[in-house]
Amino acid sequence: MRADVGEGRMGERAVVLGGSMAGLLAARVLADAYAEVVIVDRDRLTGVTTARRGVPQGRHVHGLLARGQQILDELFPGFTERAVAAGVPTADLGELRWFFGGRRTRPSPTGLICVSADRPVLENLVRESVAGWKNIAFAEETDILELLTADGDGRVTGVRVQDRTAADSASRAIAADLVVDCTGRGSRTPAWLEEHGFSRPVEQRIKIDLTYTTRHYRLPDESILCGDLSINPVSTPSHPRGAFFSRVDGGRCIVSLTGVLGDAAPTDPEGFLDWARSLAVPDVYEVIKDAEPLDDPVSFTYPASIRRHYEHLERFPDRLLVMGDAFCSFNPVYGQGMTVAALEALTLRAHLERGVPEPLPFLKDVAGVVEAPWQISAGGDLAFPQVEGPRPPELEMTNAYMGLLQSAMTRDPAVTRAFMRVAGLVDPAPGLMSPEMIYRVLKSGSPPVPAPAAG
Ligand SMILES: Cc1cc2nc3c(=O)[nH]c(=O)nc-3n(C[C@H](O)[C@H](O)[C@H](O)COP(=O)(O)OP(=O)(O)OC[C@H]3O[C@@H](n4cnc5c(N)ncnc54)[C@H](O)[C@@H]3O)c2cc1C
Repeated sequence: MRADVGEGRMGERAVVLGGSMAGLLAARVLADAYAEVVIVDRDRLTGVTTARRGVPQGRHVHGLLARGQQILDELFPGFTERAVAAGVPTADLGELRWFFGGRRTRPSPTGLICVSADRPVLENLVRESVAGWKNIAFAEETDILELLTADGDGRVTGVRVQDRTAADSASRAIAADLVVDCTGRGSRTPAWLEEHGFSRPVEQRIKIDLTYTTRHYRLPDESILCGDLSINPVSTPSHPRGAFFSRVDGGRCIVSLTGVLGDAAPTDPEGFLDWARSLAVPDVYEVIKDAEPLDDPVSFTYPASIRRHYEHLERFPDRLLVMGDAFCSFNPVYGQGMTVAALEALTLRAHLERGVPEPLPFLKDVAGVVEAPWQISAGGDLAFPQVEGPRPPELEMTNAYMGLLQSAMTRDPAVTRAFMRVAGLVDPAPGLMSPEMIYRVLKSGSPPVPAPAAG
């Protein structure tokens, strides 16, 4: 429910640093509590439906997990309907063409909706929804220079920014009762904390050395998809090369080829196709080989997942919060970043309901939100023997079980359904270890088939 101005209000102005998915969702919940919310971003945002400089990953496949779709519908009632009306295709998540270890899962209706938009289009749909809140303003094409503090106590009082459009424009201060850092993985908050006498958060990195290489196509005849919205041979230790193919808005298709541990699909058209042909299953190659390319392949390298343990800090400046990729950046193949940002927005809303958010309790709660998706992402990456990182004794058993479970998904649709609900961040992971699920997995699973010899 929207707070009336003057009643239950936390202050005059909240400033959100970064206007990508985390920033937009933070602004949406802040708008219920502050008289004005200002979103600052270095890029031009309004009406932009193509990839922009501040979000270079926007050129690559972005799946919105089921929990993220549910939260968007909660924060912006009718969001999915509007997306569909705008030409975005949807399908049941369990009925997409998924492959694990080179084998296709048994499709199973889950009731969970996959919204298949190009990332910039999805972001624009969210931005248009946010623009419906009259007390949210955008400071576009504006560089964030530094946080401003009150003398003495380190309380954050605003932010210094600079207009990018006017040559030689002077910097200006935007005063704020609350500042939320949503500037993504390159967030300067750790460095700023150190410069101002606070400790930096400890950073945990899981080096996966991942590369996405992506191209858009138009299909001469969509019947080749046999009605499927998406074809996803997922990267696993037995078959490390992966791909995400999706029909998206505007009758276009997008394919991202994913290589790990330094392996990368080339950006020249022939090399790109050859690499697609080398996947464990021919499905993606068969669909794109005669399709009309709409652009040249582009690549994006993602060296490591980064988790910043803000929750372990003992001191933190008042009136400053951190969310989204600035808090934790997950290996993107698990498709979690936008949904975790949405879950964090709900956490922020819960804190706002209790009063002005206190940073350390908020950051602790965000760490709680991040924990389960991090275990999925880091645990999955550590199943690759070459990936360095702490391996608790139970990890080997968990990953062996996940291999059997993915194999069981090729035979038992109930296992597919349970897996999709956990991977979609709808259900908690321990559900996959219930006695009933263990029985099903042991009955239907068999060890993953080893990858064919390269070459
Ligand atoms: C290749 C790839 C594929 C991905 N696929 C998926 C997926 O399938 N599903 C999913 O949920 N997530 C995916 N992600 C993650 C997803 O992109 C992010 O989690 C999501 O964008 C939320 O990030 P964010 O808003 O915190 O930060 P970002 O999206 O990084 O945005 C940061 C914003 O801050 C602005 N900014 C930064 N510094 C400044 C400054 N100094 N001044 C002004 N503005 C500034 C930038 O312009 C930008 O708008 C993927 C990521 C990558 C790399």
